[in-house]
Amino acid sequence: MSHLFPTYTRWEVEPEIAGGSMLIDKNGNSYLDFTSGIGVCNLGHRPKNVEDAVLKQLNQFWHISNLFQSSSQETAAKMLAEASGLDRVFFANSGAEANEAAIKLARKATGKSKIITFNSSFHGRTFATMSATGQDKIKYGFGPMLETFVYVSYNDIEAVKREIGRDIAAVMIEVVQGEGGIHVGKKDFLQGVEQLCKQHNALFIIDEIQTGIGRTGKPFAFQHYDLGPDLITTAKGLGSGFPIGACLGKENLAQYFGAGSHGSTFGGNPLSIAASIATMDTIFKEDFLAEVVDKSEYFFEQLRNQLHHLSMIENIRGIGMMAGIECKFSVTTVLSELRNMGLLALPAGDKVIRLLPPLTISEEHIKNGVNIIKEVLETSAKPLEHVY
Ligand code: PLP
Repeated sequence: MSHLFPTYTRWEVEPEIAGGSMLIDKNGNSYLDFTSGIGVCNLGHRPKNVEDAVLKQLNQFWHISNLFQSSSQETAAKMLAEASGLDRVFFANSGAEANEAAIKLARKATGKSKIITFNSSFHGRTFATMSATGQDKIKYGFGPMLETFVYVSYNDIEAVKREIGRDIAAVMIEVVQGEGGIHVGKKDFLQGVEQLCKQHNALFIIDEIQTGIGRTGKPFAFQHYDLGPDLITTAKGLGSGFPIGACLGKENLAQYFGAGSHGSTFGGNPLSIAASIATMDTIFKEDFLAEVVDKSEYFFEQLRNQLHHLSMIENIRGIGMMAGIECKFSVTTVLSELRNMGLLALPAGDKVIRLLPPLTISEEHIKNGVNIIKEVLETSAKPLEHVY
C-alpha cells in the first residue's frame, strides 16, 4: 500500500540517474528527456555550474531566514530585474506562490478586487491560483471558488473589453498557454490587453512560470511581443530544479509590499538562490539565447518535416523550445508508447503532446526524439484512428 495521496498518475519509470538530456531508470533503461522535469531543467539535468554553486552554498549555510541581509538574493534580484526591465523582486518557493504574491499585490496597489484570467489558463493549485485557473477539471470537487476571477476567451480582445471595468485590479495572462495546450498569444491581442489595462488603471500581470528563463529564446516570452507588464511571475526553470519562484514588479509597486505585508519562511532560500544565479548566469547571455533560437528552428523543422504526413495530427505549434502536437484523439496511450521507445514527453490537455526539451539539447537528440514520435504515431495510427 502506498502512503502517498494518489494526487498524481505516475509513470511506470523510476529514475536512477540523469544528466544532460538523458535519464536512466532503475532497470537500466535510458530515455531521452523531452520534459525537462516539466519545464524546469532548462540547462538539462545536473548542469555543472549549478551543481558547483549549490555545493559551495551547502558548505556555507543552508537556511538563515529572511531576517538577515542577503547579498545573494540581491544579486539574483538584480539579474532578474536587468533581464526583464522590471525593478523589484519577491522570492517565493513555487510558481503558484509567485502568482499569489502578484494577486495580493495587484489588489492592494489598485484597491480593486477582481482579476481577469483566461479560459484554458493555468496558474497553480493553491486556492487563489486554482480559482484563477480557467479550467474546470482543476477545480472539480473543491466547492465554490473565490469570486475574484472573471474568465474570458484567450486571443479575443472583445471579450476582455466587455469585462474590463471599474473593479478590475488586473489582467493575468500567459503569453503562451502551457498546461492548457500550447496556445500561442497573438501580438495584437496581447498589446491590446496591455492598452486596456492602462486605460482602466488595471495592472498587467504576465505569468511566465512556464515560458520564462529562456524557454522561448528570450529571457521572458513577453519580450517577443514588445510588451511592458507591471508584474511578471516566474518559477520552474529559475532554479534548474531547486524550488524557487519570483514575482517581479515595477518600482511604483514597492510601496504596497512594505515590511510585514507579505512573506515566506523558505522564499529566497540560499541553496535555491545559488542555483538560480548560476542558471541565469548561463541562460541570460545573448550567445546562449541565440543558440536556443537556432535550435528552435531546427526543432520545429524536424517536427514539421518528420510528422507532416500523419493525418492524425491537427496542428503543430509553439515557440522556442516549447512545442505542442495536437492530435485528433487522446494522447495518453501515445505518451506511454513513447516511453516504451525511450522518449519522455508530456500531455497538455487531453489531445496535445507537449515537448519541453532542455535548451541545451543537441541537434542529434532533437532528431532522434522526433523520429521516435514519428515511429510511434505511424505504428499507432491505425488502431488509434479506429478507436477515435
Ligand atoms: N503558472 C503556470 C503558467 C504554470 O505552468 C504552472 C505550473 O505548471 C504554475 C503557474 C504553477 O507552478 P507551480 O507548480 O510551481 O506552483
